[in-house]
Amino acid sequence: MKLRDIGEFGFIDRIRNGCLIRPRGVVQAIGDDAAAFRPPVDRLMLLTTDLLLEGVHFVAEATSGSNLGTKALAVNFSDIAAMGGDALDTFVSIAAPGDAPLDFLDDLYRGMKALATEFDVNILGGDTTGSLRDVVISVAVTGSVPEDEILLRSAARPGDILFSTGFLGDSRAGLHLILNRVPLEPTWLSNLFNAHVTPRPHLHEGRFLAAGKKVHAAIDVSDGLSSDIGHIVRESHVGALLHASRIPVSPNLQMFCARFGFDPVEFALIGGEDYSLLVTVPEVHADAVAEGYLNRFQRPLYPLGEITDSDKIELIADNGRLREVPPTGWDHFRSGKNK
Ligand code: ADP
Ligand code: MG
Repeated sequence: MKLRDIGEFGFIDRIRNGCLIRPRGVVQAIGDDAAAFRPPVDRLMLLTTDLLLEGVHFVAEATSGSNLGTKALAVNFSDIAAMGGDALDTFVSIAAPGDAPLDFLDDLYRGMKALATEFDVNILGGDTTGSLRDVVISVAVTGSVPEDEILLRSAARPGDILFSTGFLGDSRAGLHLILNRVPLEPTWLSNLFNAHVTPRPHLHEGRFLAAGKKVHAAIDVSDGLSSDIGHIVRESHVGALLHASRIPVSPNLQMFCARFGFDPVEFALIGGEDYSLLVTVPEVHADAVAEGYLNRFQRPLYPLGEITDSDKIELIADNGRLREVPPTGWDHFRSGKNK
């Protein structure tokens, strides 16, 4: 069946089941002209949105609807995580041609509902409209954070230790496997693929770190370590010194680089879409924060550098040599088809 066989309202009826996951505070969910809900008391509201275009962000034939739905929500949840917040409600707007297969759209919502359920977030509304050819998905997510716990890019200070909440570079390796149609066996290759197609938003991690009130700045790694640390450096008017040997590279990425002849540090620096969080912590609190994190998540918080007053991003290589790192992550107007 195609989208045109059931129409706009048939489609909304079809997807609305299972969208209200956290009813507390919701007065009107999907089904009226607007959603109505109570804002959390004594907290700042957060709102983030992301646009996904067929042919630019995903290839419909190469992506399962479910993976696409999961990722569309995950990248937005990640932005809320990077502010130290809890995600609350999601709004999903879709443009699709009349001949879009319903199976694909059903699958898309299955993926979104699965991730929304896991993180206790509602799908509270959206819009559905026809497009001439491509599928366009726009997701907005609201969140909230106590005002004195918000994590900003601009709050890093010289002397802070820079940590990552997860491995870096896996997602870029996964993209390489997809673009080069590498068979996804054995498991370590499919793990890299999964890091790219269904990244985990670090919502619990971001909230935990923010609630501890020791973290200065935070950002999520969407464009690549060098680019995203560049945002902290610019917004905070500081510099950063990264230690190549401490950049968290997964065993999977090490095997990948050994097999395909890449440098894992390069992958971590310029590969994007890892969606782990970079956080800066004053040195006096760094050990305690890392220990608390390890106890809570049974995974380390990886220290990979320091914030400096140099205005530059520098990298100490394994051989001790120092070099400046250009902030060369993904930029749609420079790296993509639109340059
Ligand atoms: P209106 O025409 O008044 O804007 P719609 O008919 O577009 O209302 O939407 C009806 C209800 O369905 C609203 O609650 C809206 O938020 C929701 N909705 C529409 N499209 C989607 C979608 N793709 N995903 C989730 N909710 C949607
Ligand atoms: Mg409408």
